[in-house]
Amino acid sequence: MLLDLEPDGDALFLDFDGTLVEIAPRPDDIVVPRHLPALIDRLSARLGGALAVVSGRAVHALDSYLSPARFAASGLHGMENRWNTGDPVIRVQPPESLESVRASLVGSGIADERVRVEDKGLSIAIHYRAAPERGEDIIALVHDLAAPYADLSVLAGKMVVEVKPSGYSKATAVEDGMRQSPFSGRRPVFIGDDVTDEDGMRAATALGGYGVKVGEGPSLAEKRIGSVRHVLDWLDRQSKGH
Ligand SMILES: [Mg+2]
Repeated sequence: MLLDLEPDGDALFLDFDGTLVEIAPRPDDIVVPRHLPALIDRLSARLGGALAVVSGRAVHALDSYLSPARFAASGLHGMENRWNTGDPVIRVQPPESLESVRASLVGSGIADERVRVEDKGLSIAIHYRAAPERGEDIIALVHDLAAPYADLSVLAGKMVVEVKPSGYSKATAVEDGMRQSPFSGRRPVFIGDDVTDEDGMRAATALGGYGVKVGEGPSLAEKRIGSVRHVLDWLDRQSKGH
């Protein structure tokens, strides 16, 4: 059973896909629950603005999915941050090596109707949910292409592999956010479903908070919640204070 949030004491970091919305066969096919934007607004207000959506997606994509809600966000695994709702998004500079890998990926011919190469600008994600049997080869290829560059790292998630600048993760997102108002001085609570969320949970735990794992599978999280549906119900109760 999850604890109730402390409106004046807790800061909430929420993964998006698989936590706030059900995972879809293709990332563009997700369906955002109709009540979610209002729920985010209400809960963010209750937490004094200390609610951030922390995703591998770009912040502008999160904004468009959750419009008209206003919220703090970290996108592209910690490479884009906006810790106050009215502020502009702060982005890191992409290394030149990413350009080389981008060209090699395009030249490799791995993209087809079932495998999608998504260029996020600061990172490149290859989605193979529709062709799971090709996952092993795709991950190996991405590792090979990124291997020569110390300033790039490879991140494998659920049916997606991503190449991105080294040194950024959901852990750095949480650490960065927790240094800033309105998050600083609060207890970080990180809710997520995937391997990349473990970094965020580890950082939240190190900063005196805890992680919540959505669904099955190994996790360092102190607490568990069953599904997206359960997350939304719990968040809704927290937003109303009962
Ligand atoms: Mg997720």
